[in-house]
Amino acid sequence: MIDQNERRLEKLRKAIRADPIDALLVVAEQNVRYLTGFTGEASVLLVGKARTLLISDGRFGTQIEQECPGLEVHIRPVGQLLFDCVGEVIGKFGAAKVGFEPSKLTVANFETIRGKAPNVGLVAVAGRVEALRSIKDRHEVDVIRRAIKQAERGFEMLRAGMGEGDSEKDLADALEGYLRHCGAESAAFAPIVAVGARAALPHAHPSSDSKVGDADFVLVDWGACSGAYKSDLTRVVVTGKVTPKFEKVYRTVLEAQERGIAALRPGAKAGDVDASARSVIEDAGFGRFFSHGLGHGFGLEIHENPFFRRDNPVTLKAGMVVTIEPGIYLPDWGGIRIEDDVLVTADGPEVLTRVPKSLDAIVLR
Ligand code: ZN
Ligand code: ZN
Repeated sequence: MIDQNERRLEKLRKAIRADPIDALLVVAEQNVRYLTGFTGEASVLLVGKARTLLISDGRFGTQIEQECPGLEVHIRPVGQLLFDCVGEVIGKFGAAKVGFEPSKLTVANFETIRGKAPNVGLVAVAGRVEALRSIKDRHEVDVIRRAIKQAERGFEMLRAGMGEGDSEKDLADALEGYLRHCGAESAAFAPIVAVGARAALPHAHPSSDSKVGDADFVLVDWGACSGAYKSDLTRVVVTGKVTPKFEKVYRTVLEAQERGIAALRPGAKAGDVDASARSVIEDAGFGRFFSHGLGHGFGLEIHENPFFRRDNPVTLKAGMVVTIEPGIYLPDWGGIRIEDDVLVTADGPEVLTRVPKSLDAIVLR
């Protein structure tokens, strides 16, 4: 693990070599974790050309020794605020220009640092660690595979026990329990369980009033968190009859998803992958009912680079792990979304998720 952290830090140093900075201040918790292995909070990392320093507090002393032996640590005195300390440390670090993560450092904390280190230039440098994180190494892919397995087993349990009288909230609560039972630390996010017309809201909150028996189908969007890595799937379960309208919408979404997955290869532009799936839905006349991007990377966070949306010029690389999740949402009728997790390899897409999704397979019984 120490080697792994050293490798990641080395890659980061290489990545910021072209930036006009002498050090990078990393404040995003998941970025600190990625670079050091430290799983605590309220700690920030200063990555200089030859020196890396973790700024933390007394609660984490022992944990840091265990999780990141050898890492230089500055423990702030009891009573001193984190960013007062960060400003002081930066003032003495010997870097004339320090980069910061503009989407993560608050304006208040920026001002505090500037007040404490008036002679240091602060430069916004966005997305450097996120770019590294978007490409998973073999260990990370293994952990994601485990998070997927747990999600799939939890869903099987949910499906096996699903009955007419269950409310969306009953199912969402049960699913969280099943995920833990299957070895997950937790759900990757609060599961979405939406019956019938409520599935037309892509991010519906599970309700206790809406029951499985109220409509012909239910949409479930869920994932597991395992070893801090996440998984993210969506399936529709048919609990009533398959109407011709359902069949048409479902088949369209499935075809769009297959087209999107097939477009995943190194060098492809994220925007083109989105377009390849979107055109299937547009050609079927449902274009305006596909109201979000085609998918996203995930890992330590549920939404990471790359993002599949119209015209995004970011190119895919081997090692990216992404979701492909087209949907069609018809107001007052419902929504269909199908979401799988896919590893981009040099040879093309490797679908990591295995929950059956043919029209026959999604009918409950
Ligand atoms: Zn999802
Ligand atoms: Zn997703």
